Amino acid sequence: MCAAEVSLSSFDTADAAALAQLDALGMSAALQMASSAEEAGEVPVGAVVMDVNGNILGRGFNRCISDHDPTGHAEIVALRDAALRMGNYRLPGLALYVTLEPCVMCMGAMLHARLARVVYGASDPKTGACGSILDVPSYACLNHHTTVVGGVMEQECASRLQSFFRARRQAARAARLARREALQSSPN
Ligand SMILES: [Zn+2]
Repeated sequence: MCAAEVSLSSFDTADAAALAQLDALGMSAALQMASSAEEAGEVPVGAVVMDVNGNILGRGFNRCISDHDPTGHAEIVALRDAALRMGNYRLPGLALYVTLEPCVMCMGAMLHARLARVVYGASDPKTGACGSILDVPSYACLNHHTTVVGGVMEQECASRLQSFFRARRQAARAARLARREALQSSPN
């Protein structure tokens, strides 16, 4: 029965000011992980798992390209890191912070982990599963454990991705131009 269990998280009882402070802390840590992703040549999305006292228990950033892994999203990497550290595949009472709206795979994994709270920064109009494309948390039967909040430090999270993709487009354009020039200047 999906309604039988109730989260015992103290995130549930924290007041608005405390939650805002925790959310800023968690999202700043997730943004640091996004920087690590970018340094590794991955799309800059970062995630952390945090307890209500602000302790970071798991970290992850996108690793799809480096690991040849379609499941290597920041959230999955952070969940695995936290679950290993906690010695438990369920993470009740903990929150996950991620810079981009989770996809349906990650949202499913986070519900399985029974996180107390999922907080994301920027919306993802392509694969977002928290209202953009699908709205997984709105399925009442799935949603007894996890509170989902979006738009925390949204501007900072979005601009990180925008500048990454802008730089990537510019690099691709420069490479195309260089190839064209090389072809034009090569002797026939
Ligand atoms: Zn995902």
